[in-house]
Order: sequence, then C-alpha cells, then structure tokens
Amino acid sequence: MTIPASPSPSGGPVLRFAPSPTGPLHLGHAYSALLNAEKARRMGGRLLLRIEDIDVTRCRPDFVEALLEDLAWLGLEFESPVRRQSAHFDDYREALDRLAARGLLYRSYASRSAIAAATADPGHPRDPDGAPLYPRARLAAADDPAGRGPGEPFALRLDMARAAALVPPLAWREEREGMEGGFDPVPADPALWGDVVLARKEFPASYHLAVVVDDALQGVTHVVRGRDLYEATALHRLLQALLGLPEPVYHHHRLVQGPDGEKLSKSLRSKSLRALRAEGATPQDVRRWVGLASDIFPGPRTSRPLRPGHP
Ligand code: GLU
Repeated sequence: MTIPASPSPSGGPVLRFAPSPTGPLHLGHAYSALLNAEKARRMGGRLLLRIEDIDVTRCRPDFVEALLEDLAWLGLEFESPVRRQSAHFDDYREALDRLAARGLLYRSYASRSAIAAATADPGHPRDPDGAPLYPRARLAAADDPAGRGPGEPFALRLDMARAAALVPPLAWREEREGMEGGFDPVPADPALWGDVVLARKEFPASYHLAVVVDDALQGVTHVVRGRDLYEATALHRLLQALLGLPEPVYHHHRLVQGPDGEKLSKSLRSKSLRALRAEGATPQDVRRWVGLASDIFPGPRTSRPLRPGHP
C-alpha cells in the first residue's frame, strides 16, 4: 500500500460515491450520488465510484451490475477504473499488519453467545449504533489464545485503550451545509466504539478499516456521505491517525427528505430506483423527490405530479 504524500496528488478535490452492493439502490443512494456529483462539478473536482463489496457473504455481482445501470440512468459519470474492494484485500492486510506491529490488535475468540451473555445487563454501555461495547476483561478467559488451534475462528479487535493513548486528542473537519470551504472541527471520541472488530479470520477487513485505507489510496479529499455515518467518523479519524493517512474533509448530509423538508412517503422511500423507473419515473423526478432543485442540473425542468400511490 503506497499512500500518496498529499491527500490529492493531482492537487484538486476528489470526491467519491461508495455504495455497498447488498441490495438495489434507493432514493437515499441517489441523493448521495447526486450530491457528490454536484459538489464535484461546483468544485471542479474528480468524481470516483467505489464498490464496497468487501463483505462477500452479503454483496452480489448482480447488484453491482444493477447499480452501475441505475447511476448511468441518473446521468452520472464516474472515472474508470472503478475500485472494487474485493480486488484489494492485500491493501487491507497491510494496514492490519501495521496496526498489529504496534501491538494494537488482539485475537478475540469469544463466541456470539458468550458476548451476548456477558453484555446482557441492560445498563451495559453501547456504541453509537446501539451495539454493546466489547467486554474484554470479562471475556479474557474465552479470548485466551492458549489451546486454540489454527482452524478456530477469531475476530481481530482494536485495543481501543492502547490506540487512543497513542494519539493526541483528535477532531475531524465537518463542512457546513452549503458552505464549501467552511468547516467546523468536531472533536472525535473513538473510545465510544470500544474494541471494534477490524477483521475476522475469514474476512479481510471491516468497513471501518477498508473505508479509511481506500479513501487514502484514492486520494479522496472530500467525503460526502449520509448522516448515519457521522459518529463512525471518530473511529475513522483514529485509524487515519494510527496509520499516518491523510485527513479528508467530511460532509454528512441529511437523510432523504422531500423538497420542503418533510419526510418522503414511505412508499417512495421503500421502492428501489429501478422500481420507480419501471413505473415511469424520470431522473428529474428523482432529483425533485430527494430535494435537489432541478435547476442545478442540466435537463428539462419537468415537474410531473406524483403518481398515484406516492402521496
Ligand atoms: N458503503 C457505505 C454504504 O453504502 C458508505 C460508506 C461511506 O460513504 O463511507 O453505506
């Protein structure tokens, strides 16, 4: 893994849309992709597409084909070649090796049921996604590598206390809504995530590890993604600091709403882009539904009435 010395060797802004092909794209994906494209256009930057297909148990090639087609239908063009995480396992392995060389990873053999039992107390602390923090001390006996054979499954966990002690207090730069170039520092508290899993025996890297490695390798300068990943950014900053990776600017956009800020109807939100398209929706309809004014995009300013069933 050769990380560019500066975030963007070409000098200009680099943005990316990074879907996981675990299902069809919905309006939320369309909003994120269109927003990235619009920002790249306004900033004169590059726009990349990254297929986050590292979880080979959940990702499917037909979803990749479908999302490429949906994005083309929306009128979006990305640079090629498109990076697919499943083709870059060596990069994640190298990052893991670097963390392991600093004594920051440990093998965790505790089973799901042992973890569930050890965290059953309703007062047990939870991470920002609601999952119980890993109770390392309580599971020390289960995690003892002594007597474990080479075939036994394990997770590679980050020793959070040790990792956090190695870095100064961290913050990330969060761009203000509609204010390119203006950002606020957000203090990052990665300890909220506890001893996260960064890989498993049969699984080369977690999302958190792969995303920071790829953003660095691809020279991404601006990460524009959904608000649901806001808290995870604390962990991403920690991994960047530990691995000596450049630090992009972040913008966590609202989750999809209607043009006036009201929530879109459930039936619109739950339908895939291809289902909407099969019902006759146009790319302009999609832009309008996600609240991106059609006049910032080239194309006819159509304003079709919502179809019956889309109140
Ligand atoms: N692959 C993630 C998703 O589809 C997005 C990751 C990111 O933008 O950082 O939710």
